[in-house]
Amino acid sequence: MKTPSIHAARWWQAEDSLCVRCNLCPRFCRIKPGWTGFCGVRANIGGRLGSVAYGHPVSVNIDPIEKKPLARFMPGSRTFSIGTFGCNLSCSFCQNDSLSRGHYDLKSLPRYVAPEDVIELALRHGCQSVSYTYNEPTVFAEYAVDTAALASANGLKNVLVSNGYITPEAADALYPLIDAANIDMKGFSEEFYRSLCGASLEPVLNSIRRLYESGKHIEITNLVIPGHNDGEPMIHAWFDWVEKHLDKDVPLHFSAYHPAYRMRVERTPRETLFKIRQYGEDRGFTSIFLGNI
Ligand code: SF4
Repeated sequence: MKTPSIHAARWWQAEDSLCVRCNLCPRFCRIKPGWTGFCGVRANIGGRLGSVAYGHPVSVNIDPIEKKPLARFMPGSRTFSIGTFGCNLSCSFCQNDSLSRGHYDLKSLPRYVAPEDVIELALRHGCQSVSYTYNEPTVFAEYAVDTAALASANGLKNVLVSNGYITPEAADALYPLIDAANIDMKGFSEEFYRSLCGASLEPVLNSIRRLYESGKHIEITNLVIPGHNDGEPMIHAWFDWVEKHLDKDVPLHFSAYHPAYRMRVERTPRETLFKIRQYGEDRGFTSIFLGNI
C-alpha cells in the first residue's frame, strides 16, 4: 500500500517569516517552520500547513454505538471507530492521554489507511456507521471530512465524538456530514475551561447549538469531577442552559471520573451522579444517563 507524503491541511493562512496560522480551532496557533501546533498533529512544512494525522489512525475498533456514548441513535448497531493522536485541549483530568498527548514520529508514520479503506472495512465488518472518536476529531478534520463524505455516499451514517472546540469555518465543512454527535461539556463555567482545559466554554456551547439547530441527533456528556464541576449551582446552571437553548429530551450523560493524567482527585462517588440525575428528573429532563458507574 502506498504511503503518501503528509496531507495538505485546510483552514490555515500564511504569515510572515514562513510562519502559518492554523484556523481549525479557537487556539489559532501560529506555527513556525518545522514545528507543530498545540495539538501536535498539524505541522508547518516549509511554510505550508500539513495534517500529519490524515490517514494515520492509531486506534481502530468496532464498537457498540452505546459506547460512544449514544443512547438514542441506532441502538444495537455497530460503529466502525477511528482515532488518531492529538488534542486541542489540555485537560489536566484527561481520561485518554495516551492518544491525546501522543505524537507521531514523522520518520516512521503508522500504516496509511485511506478514507476508501475505512469505508471498505466498515462495510466488510457489518457496521452501520463510522465514528470519529477516541482522541479529538477536530484535529484530524480533513481526514474526517473526506471519510464522512464517502461514508454517506455508501449508505453509512457518521458519528462525531468531540469536545466541540472548533472554529465556525471548519464546522461549516464537517458538521453537515455528521448524523449524530456526542459533545463533551466539561464543566459549566469559563473559569473551569480556562483553568483546567486551557480553553474556553463559549465555542463549545456554540458548537452544541449549531448541531442542535441544524437538526442533528445530539447527546452531551459531562465528566463529573468531585470539587471541580459537581456543585449544585453549576449543575443547575447547565440544566438552565439546556432548557433555554435545546430541550429537555436531549440525552445528557453524566460520567464518573477516574484519577488520570495530572489530576489526583478521588474518583466520583456513585451518589454524586445519582443526585445529579435526581436534580434533572425533578426539573422534567427525560433522558439522563449515568456512565462509568
Ligand atoms: S487544530 Fe491544532 S494547530 Fe490548529 S489551532 Fe487548534 S491546536 Fe493549534
